Amino acid sequence: MNRTERKLRALAAGHHLADPLAGFVDLAGIREAVEDLTKAFAPLGRVQHTVAVKACGLAPLLRYLGDLGVDAEVASPGETAVAEAAGIRGPRLVLDSPAKTTAELAHALAEGTAVNADNFQELARLDGLVGPAPRSVLGLRINPQVGAGRIGDTSTATTTSKFGVPLRDNRNLVKEAFARRPWLTRLHVHVGSQGCPPELMAEGVAAAHALAEEINAEAGFRQVTSLDLGGGLPVNFVSDEPGFTHADYVATLLARVPALADGRYGFVTEFGRSLLAKSGFLVSAVEYTKVAGGRPIAVTHAGAQVAARTVLQPEHWPLRLTALHPDGTPKTGPGVPQDIAGPLCFAGDLLARERSLPLLEPGDLVVAHDTGAYYFGAHYAYNTLPRPAVHGFTVSERGEVRFTPIRRAQTLAELVADAGGEFVGALPGA
Ligand SMILES: *Cc1c(COP(=O)(O)O)cnc(C)c1O
Repeated sequence: MNRTERKLRALAAGHHLADPLAGFVDLAGIREAVEDLTKAFAPLGRVQHTVAVKACGLAPLLRYLGDLGVDAEVASPGETAVAEAAGIRGPRLVLDSPAKTTAELAHALAEGTAVNADNFQELARLDGLVGPAPRSVLGLRINPQVGAGRIGDTSTATTTSKFGVPLRDNRNLVKEAFARRPWLTRLHVHVGSQGCPPELMAEGVAAAHALAEEINAEAGFRQVTSLDLGGGLPVNFVSDEPGFTHADYVATLLARVPALADGRYGFVTEFGRSLLAKSGFLVSAVEYTKVAGGRPIAVTHAGAQVAARTVLQPEHWPLRLTALHPDGTPKTGPGVPQDIAGPLCFAGDLLARERSLPLLEPGDLVVAHDTGAYYFGAHYAYNTLPRPAVHGFTVSERGEVRFTPIRRAQTLAELVADAGGEFVGALPGA
């Protein structure tokens, strides 16, 4: 059964879960993405695959991925704690972040977690923390300064990006940093996310590989033993088709740098969106409909709180939407341009503008597709709206759908607690 069929089954079976807004994860879809990833990278030999936790830091999903052999890339104490709670810890974690505190670094070193230092000051801090034989693999993130992709916010290898050591400005200093630190054995590069052409990503990997060769030649031994290739494979948001695959990406990498397959380096990957996006979707009920200035508007419960980027930068992050009857079956009928609004109290809180869909009515459902990455895990707390529940599902050969909880919806009591509820009487009286 393919992804589309599984989704239709789940939608037809899932309406009884009827929160006004909920997220769903196709567990078989994630398994397929992981299989696709590991198969694609087999020609590179030793590869540690990690999932970028910022793409969806839900503990049961991290455990599920961990059981499939996928480790985790973390970039904050919270992400680290969630990954560790999911049982992915120590050398199964890679810590990247431009703002690691001394406490975070010390924790990673004590646990044997790999660390990619972001800058020279962080390296100097590590000098004071690492012993003679650290258990952690320690690396340096370089910014290959190869340029931007289509989306500025997710392009991390521009001349002036905030991430990593800008390589073109600092090549000799980077080589000196390695010469002085025999425990530095990894180079890390992440060119960007969604919108970066794979050829540009390959250019960044080529820069890291060439630098590693140069460092090793000057050291007289193989000091750099692994390359962390980052993530960033673009996802197709236009249809259920996979689009550019991990295998296509590996072919692009090998065309640019054939030596990657010579077995002399180990590799780390840190994909997020390409592992998760297409296996998730959001379902919202239509609460009301109206017509304003001739334009039909459907008011749903899916707005910027679950889709901040889509709402705030619709030109970069459009989502594919489908209209369903209240029972979860697809609505048919002529397409009518209509605004699909969210519940937040600002006028721009629209999931889509003038989107052609069968005319929505109260009680209908709207599906937002491909939201498995960067939607469920990146809640925006405007209007004190709760984080929605997330349900995993599997579909048996016979088509029976089984749902398993991944996250409860946030309760009103939890919202009050997040609003400082425990201090409600603590301010001095006026
Ligand atoms: C965001 C990020 C990733 C994951 O990017 P995707 O586009 O989701 O694959 C990997 N590595 C680093 C350092 C990141 O910041």
